[in-house]
Amino acid sequence: MFTRLVLLGPPGSGKGTQTERLCKEFGFTHISTGDLLREAVRNGTTLGIKAKKFMEAGDLVPDDLVIELVRLKLDNCPKGFVLDGFPRTVEQAKALQRICDVDAAINLEVNEEDIVGRMINRRSCKKCGAVYNLQSNPPKKAGTCDKCGVELYQRSDDTEETVRARMKVYKERTMPLIAFYRKQGVLMSIDARGGIDRVYETIAGKIRSS
Ligand code: AMP
Repeated sequence: MFTRLVLLGPPGSGKGTQTERLCKEFGFTHISTGDLLREAVRNGTTLGIKAKKFMEAGDLVPDDLVIELVRLKLDNCPKGFVLDGFPRTVEQAKALQRICDVDAAINLEVNEEDIVGRMINRRSCKKCGAVYNLQSNPPKKAGTCDKCGVELYQRSDDTEETVRARMKVYKERTMPLIAFYRKQGVLMSIDARGGIDRVYETIAGKIRSS
């Protein structure tokens, strides 16, 4: 069965939500570089201080910093992993290839205009990282995480202006990875415009039968 997965897709395409579910069902380790970087910023670590200005501008954090972060995490994934938000550049994908093979790169295909609406409505839990959407996937109790009861927050980079900047960065720097993984023979494109459950079943079905 596939156990080493990469989730590709523009910001707001649902990578975090789908990864959470995959990890719950299959026991994979969730590695989100965005979450790891936000944690570093909150804790004021050297990495966090360096990363903050790039993140606030919707730009990418330099490859060397992110690659090192992922390398450390990959050491401890007994049942496999899902990389969510990494790689984001061809340089990162090549670095990952030097560390280990990838069984499948799942590309979530969405409509760009739907995304801006999705992201502005996105809310996250500071404690467990769970992601909600005020429209399509609201928490049971407004403003509170279903799992840990902690208050939800809106990411500072989920404003329309930053979302547009991130989309531009995605097209220029990350989209080339689709061709990269197609060439490796591991690309799996998924129509991610439907509801969360339908998209999940498509992905999970492919993993169960792999
Ligand atoms: P995300 O939560 O995946 O949308 O990431 C939020 C922000 O963290 C991005 O806009 C980047 O500034 C930074 N970031 C996350 N992952 C990476 C990565 N693989 N390479 C460079 N920057 C990243």
